[in-house]
Amino acid sequence: MGRIHVLDPHIVNQIAAGEVVERPASVVKELVENALDAGATRIDVTVREGGRDLIEVQDDGHGISPDDLERIFLAHATSKITAVEDLRHVATMGFRGEALASIGSVSRASIVSRRQGHDDGWRVENLDGQVSAVEPSAASPGTVVRVEQLFARVPARRKFLRTATTELGHIKALMGRFALAFPHIGFRLRQGSQALLEAPPEPDRRLRIAQIHGDEVARALLHARETQGEPTLEAWIGPPSLTRRDTKLEQVFLNGRHIRDRSVAHAVREAYRDLLPPGGRRPVAFLFLSIDPARVDVNVHPGKTEVRWRDASAVHRVVRRTLRGALEGARPGLGVALPGGGREHAHLHDQGASTVAAVEQAFLRGAGRSVDSQRPAGFGFSMPPRGDPDAGGGMPPAEAPAAVTVGGLRPVGQLLGTYLVLEGAGELVLVDQHALHERVLFDRINERLRQKGNLEVQRMLVPAVVHLEPEDLARLLEAKDLLQTLGWLVEPFGEDAVAVNGVPAVLRRPDPEAALHELLELIARGQREGLDRTNLVSVAVDSLACRSAVMAGDVLHTDEVVALLEQAEALNHSHSCPHGRPTRLTMTRGQLERWFHRTV
Ligand code: ADP
Ligand code: MG
Repeated sequence: MGRIHVLDPHIVNQIAAGEVVERPASVVKELVENALDAGATRIDVTVREGGRDLIEVQDDGHGISPDDLERIFLAHATSKITAVEDLRHVATMGFRGEALASIGSVSRASIVSRRQGHDDGWRVENLDGQVSAVEPSAASPGTVVRVEQLFARVPARRKFLRTATTELGHIKALMGRFALAFPHIGFRLRQGSQALLEAPPEPDRRLRIAQIHGDEVARALLHARETQGEPTLEAWIGPPSLTRRDTKLEQVFLNGRHIRDRSVAHAVREAYRDLLPPGGRRPVAFLFLSIDPARVDVNVHPGKTEVRWRDASAVHRVVRRTLRGALEGARPGLGVALPGGGREHAHLHDQGASTVAAVEQAFLRGAGRSVDSQRPAGFGFSMPPRGDPDAGGGMPPAEAPAAVTVGGLRPVGQLLGTYLVLEGAGELVLVDQHALHERVLFDRINERLRQKGNLEVQRMLVPAVVHLEPEDLARLLEAKDLLQTLGWLVEPFGEDAVAVNGVPAVLRRPDPEAALHELLELIARGQREGLDRTNLVSVAVDSLACRSAVMAGDVLHTDEVVALLEQAEALNHSHSCPHGRPTRLTMTRGQLERWFHRTV
């Protein structure tokens, strides 16, 4: 007897299952792809125990004939290709015909299907490789595939499954990606009575993203597109302030399929270079690439998420350039395109040094001055300082609108003590003073951290003594090095106090006591949540920028406004504050004219 024999088909299928079926999410992937290939417009997925006990996928696709059901669990049974030639232009998601054979060999699977336009439904099952006869069954049009007890008979694989929560997380992420890739199709994911995804058809990308990832993320996204050349790209990307701990919200789709690709990921990283806060945070980016299918090979990986480009560097270039352009703003800084079409960018950078000095002078240290009595009100038509009812009853104060322009914008006034009113080439711009200042400080602080590794210290002439509870004192002394990074000079002072010899120079109203307490609270919370040092620094920077920025209600003077605008001009992405809120609202002449019915 020879020693070589041909493997039993059941064993072959189990081996193949290892390639296709790694975990519950991979089963969901195959079944949803089949539903998509069947032309479904609605796909409902129900799971139990993160898919370990049950995965059920119901679709309203074209259904399966009883004859096909008889062959459906055979390896290489597919309706999608018949010859090698077909491989060059596969338009369907699956084509190898191995998914159902594999899944059936490692679970208890059943399929119930009824073709559109037929009255008869049919059912077949595969219990760990034992395929039943096809029998009549009640069914609604479309197909329901149920997969129970995945890997129950293959302990070696079941052992590798993670907790139900983890597996469910993978399924949820997968469904979210499907929903993004196929906006015209309704997707639903539930476990028990819990709806994990509810996404009726929604062709508008931003609204689609909102269905899956929430309004807050969707609203903050910048939209960029490149429609010339190959590939074309439509991108929805987060401002640098909207970051994540991992890459889950960096998603790339190619011709409607989710892919993972190192050169695209690298291009995204390059685009955000220098813009992200320190700490290894990842941006949010949804990229939709389209390319002539002849220029890419999707047949590389059994899971079909990896591709081989004909020209990877062209892809890299398009992604990096388009994203970077959007991040820097088609309109630089505060963002007014100049009449000549040029950008004032470089010119403003030349003024960098003096701009910084002006802001330091007029703004950071001096803003406390803005409510003092020598300067009765702000500029333009700002409201009188609060708590001073006689200061003009809302009439415009004396100071005239500024004659200077910054980046093509002329400060006109301050509104409700909160918004700066600017006028530029045919448009009206409102700026949220706090949000913009916060962005300026945030960037400046991070830049300094990058360059010097710590923040500038403002030394106190007379040290401030701050009393602390014993545990706060211990925590603070433990975090001394972190405090130093953040611009604090602190020494123990007696048993229950510290002497503050220096505070972060950006701190606008150096009230060491309050600021120190706030910082201690952050540190305590960071420790509870297990943040590492880098993340702790970035949380502290966040709060420092917020605390140091002018507040809504602070009256600003023209020189302060100009200083702020100049500072913002030098930035590349001042259109949102570090939390992703917009800093400005623009109304064009056209919009105003439509509003007042000046146009016909
Ligand atoms: P492949 O998708 O690679 O062809 P599968 O094993 O996933 O292989 O599916 C085998 C065949 O079963 C498919 O080619 C298709 O004809 C049929 N099929 C599977 N799922 C469905 C479904 N939900 N609706 C209609 N037909 C289906
Ligand atoms: Mg398939």
